[in-house]
Amino acid sequence: MDYRFADRVKMFKSSAIREISEIIAKGNDVISFAGGFPYEPYFPQAELEQAFDKVFASGKSSLQYGMTSGFMPLREKISERVKAKGIQAAPVEVLLTTGSQQSIDLFSRIMLSPGDVVLTENPTFLAAVQAFESYEAKVIGVQSDKDGMDPEDLAKKLKEYKPKFIYVVPTFSNPEGKVWSNERRVALLKLAEEHNTLILEDDPYGELQFNAEETYTPIAAMDTEKKYVIYTSSFSKTVVPSLRVGWVTGPQPIMKVLTQIKEAADLMSSPLNQQALYHLLNDFDLDGHIRMLCQQYHQHMLVMQDYLKKLDSCKWVEPKGGMFIWLEVDENIHATELLTKAVPHGVAFIPGAPFYVDSPRQNTMRLNFTNSNPERIKLGMERLTEAFQQAMK
Ligand code: PMP
Repeated sequence: MDYRFADRVKMFKSSAIREISEIIAKGNDVISFAGGFPYEPYFPQAELEQAFDKVFASGKSSLQYGMTSGFMPLREKISERVKAKGIQAAPVEVLLTTGSQQSIDLFSRIMLSPGDVVLTENPTFLAAVQAFESYEAKVIGVQSDKDGMDPEDLAKKLKEYKPKFIYVVPTFSNPEGKVWSNERRVALLKLAEEHNTLILEDDPYGELQFNAEETYTPIAAMDTEKKYVIYTSSFSKTVVPSLRVGWVTGPQPIMKVLTQIKEAADLMSSPLNQQALYHLLNDFDLDGHIRMLCQQYHQHMLVMQDYLKKLDSCKWVEPKGGMFIWLEVDENIHATELLTKAVPHGVAFIPGAPFYVDSPRQNTMRLNFTNSNPERIKLGMERLTEAFQQAMK
């Protein structure tokens, strides 16, 4: 049988992450610093159960089809929450999605024709690149440092490639765990305006901030005329990922087309989950819960970092939030080879190379500190130290 797949399927690469997962799966009792998973014991399980009980007690309408744009009372709650970050989004301008991954996919679907260009940081979030490439777009990396994209290189590439949009994760990024300076945020928006180009701001980690004193303004909040920035976030990191509730907001003409394509994609995201989340937000102190997560994850990160300080020739920028430490190791260490040594020691991580859109650096790796408690992190880091020592011999 000749399976006549669409042209876009040619863009699918075998996922390096899948290959890595296979290496990891071969190990026994592996402490994983690999996935971007939250820590399950912190999940508000009892409160979610109560929220679902309330939904079921309210009758059968929650089991019915709902509106494509989502459950209005939840959109109202999200509108209030983003307002606190300086983002003006009326409830009708908030589209509920099946996680921010779907926001990225839907936005790509309405913007990208084959051959169109998307500019990203390099490295960047792998699954976003997969979404862009699935619409046959070309993804071009912009040079960046610890403060964000280099405005000079960005200006050059805006002129050269005339991209459809610029994709950024400016607050506690994946994979680098970094946060952009205010100046770089302003510079990005100014350049986007000058080149009449949209920005897709992906902000799933922004609320996981360890030091409450600093403030990071979302680029969407700087776009006061609401012309250039499409902003997406979700409850995956602050409540639980399995609810699959995310949202997207942006310029009104974009929202109109996004809602049309959302209908074509899946009619709507789960009304049941949206209604349960609405009750959770009403009855539960989510902000208090997020403060607890920030405090705890900060401790997890510090425990991991203490071990890194003892390793030779490792460089990283201490994360101020989020879920990851991005590590640059000795030039002579190939992170995928290190992983094959680490797994028999009972510890895993993700090599950095797959996150690059070009010029992958083999001596980089991403360590997640949220999926294990500090005790397990200590044990995992002892194992990783042994693997390092073996690799350096
Ligand atoms: N964007 C980034 C940067 C992410 O790291 C993730 C998940 N790890 C997502 C989007 C997707 O998250 P979700 O669909 O669960 O909201």
